[in-house]
Amino acid sequence: MSSSLDPDLTGQNDLRGGTSPWGGAALRPRGARLTESIKTEVLVVGGGITGSLAAQHLAALGIEVCILDREQPGLGSTNASTAMLQWEIDCPLSELTKFYGFDQAASIYRRSLAAVQGLTGLVQSLQIPCLYRQRSTLYIAGAEGRSSELHAEHELRQRAGLPGQFIEYRDLLSTFGIDRAAAILSPGSADADPLLLSWGLLKTAVGQGARLIDAMATEYHSSSSAVVVETDSPFVIEARHVILATGYVMPDFVGSALHSTASSWAIATVPQKADNLWPGGELIWEATESYLYARTTKDGRIIIGGGDDDTVDPAERDAKAQAKEEFLIQSLGRLWPAADPTIAYSWSGAFGETEDGLPLIGPVPGYPRLLAAYGYGGNGITFSFMASRILAALSCGQREAWFDAFALDRPSPVG
Ligand SMILES: Cc1cc2nc3c(=O)[nH]c(=O)nc-3n(C[C@H](O)[C@H](O)[C@H](O)COP(=O)(O)OP(=O)(O)OC[C@H]3O[C@@H](n4cnc5c(N)ncnc54)[C@H](O)[C@@H]3O)c2cc1C
Repeated sequence: MSSSLDPDLTGQNDLRGGTSPWGGAALRPRGARLTESIKTEVLVVGGGITGSLAAQHLAALGIEVCILDREQPGLGSTNASTAMLQWEIDCPLSELTKFYGFDQAASIYRRSLAAVQGLTGLVQSLQIPCLYRQRSTLYIAGAEGRSSELHAEHELRQRAGLPGQFIEYRDLLSTFGIDRAAAILSPGSADADPLLLSWGLLKTAVGQGARLIDAMATEYHSSSSAVVVETDSPFVIEARHVILATGYVMPDFVGSALHSTASSWAIATVPQKADNLWPGGELIWEATESYLYARTTKDGRIIIGGGDDDTVDPAERDAKAQAKEEFLIQSLGRLWPAADPTIAYSWSGAFGETEDGLPLIGPVPGYPRLLAAYGYGGNGITFSFMASRILAALSCGQREAWFDAFALDRPSPVG
């Protein structure tokens, strides 16, 4: 099993292109160089949003933790995220039910809802300045979509005890100004500046005693008692557990038959004139294969993303930027005709996906004490939060049955 992105050759600049609106003038956290070999309880490899969430949680639990990043933490995929922090999974509940049965699918959805609630509570309690806003989502039928499919999804969600309201065509048009067959309006999601969120968590973790180290993990030697990690310095780090949070660049020995890498594109407009945004600033996403999504920002921009395809090569992704911008502008014009379509930011990034839309979280098969935190798809950050809780429990020897839904070696649901 292997990743399609070479772990040695794929740097942050290969993971994303263009410029996103994130980070502002915040101070960038940077690790210290290793000057000796060290031991720690848990080593987190990767200082993006996944590693930051894991490190902050472990540090808050009083567990000794080091975070390793070979580049500037946060400037990998985290900086490319549109940061729609949704509990609704890329794979609709109806689809997930076909894969795993209703009870398990419903339980996974409820875990996802709890993860966003947990993230919201965390950001509020730590008061992380990251433009975090609680949002509802508006899951709209595609341009050619029918209301019956969305209605069936809504009924299934109701049965699962998930919050949400079915919106008929006329109400959708009169309340939201959106001309689609139907939608599901659901509370419980959020948006944020992902880079400020990630850096804020990392700084909190360091304030709680975590060590941030500037080095590359090159080899992992795992045994029943510890993992020794070689680095690109003369020194090694020995840990009781290692959490791999290297984003879409997975070491060769990790992998999953379920996983593939694609690309996604996004633009942010100039700030819109007052009252020129949909009323509640809902996170909008479309029930289509081509995957279109839109959100607003605190300073009044519209971010619209999608046009995903299976491009992996960074140069090829960059070369498609102009065509994708045109596609996104046209899509914006159809979704929200009143928008000023002037582009202020345009960017793209590698995008990991799994067949069931679920992340890869848990022990790395065959490598004792190595744990993976790979939150894939449009719910990447929601799943990163979930990973931080699951992996902290596992590193304390506390396993729960529901963790298995995300296991790296779970069989393919599509045969
Ligand atoms: C265009 C786009 C839109 C997206 N929109 C959303 C969205 O709306 N909502 C959402 O939830 N998710 C979204 N995602 C997905 C989300 O961005 C990712 O799930 C998330 O950023 C992954 O974070 P990460 O910390 O795992 O990876 P990264 O941010 O890539 O961090 C991994 C870190 O590991 C380091 N590293 C790698 N290898 C090593 C090594 N050997 N040694 C030391 N350090 C190493 C890297 O330098 C990097 O800093 C989107 C992604 C893209 C591309």
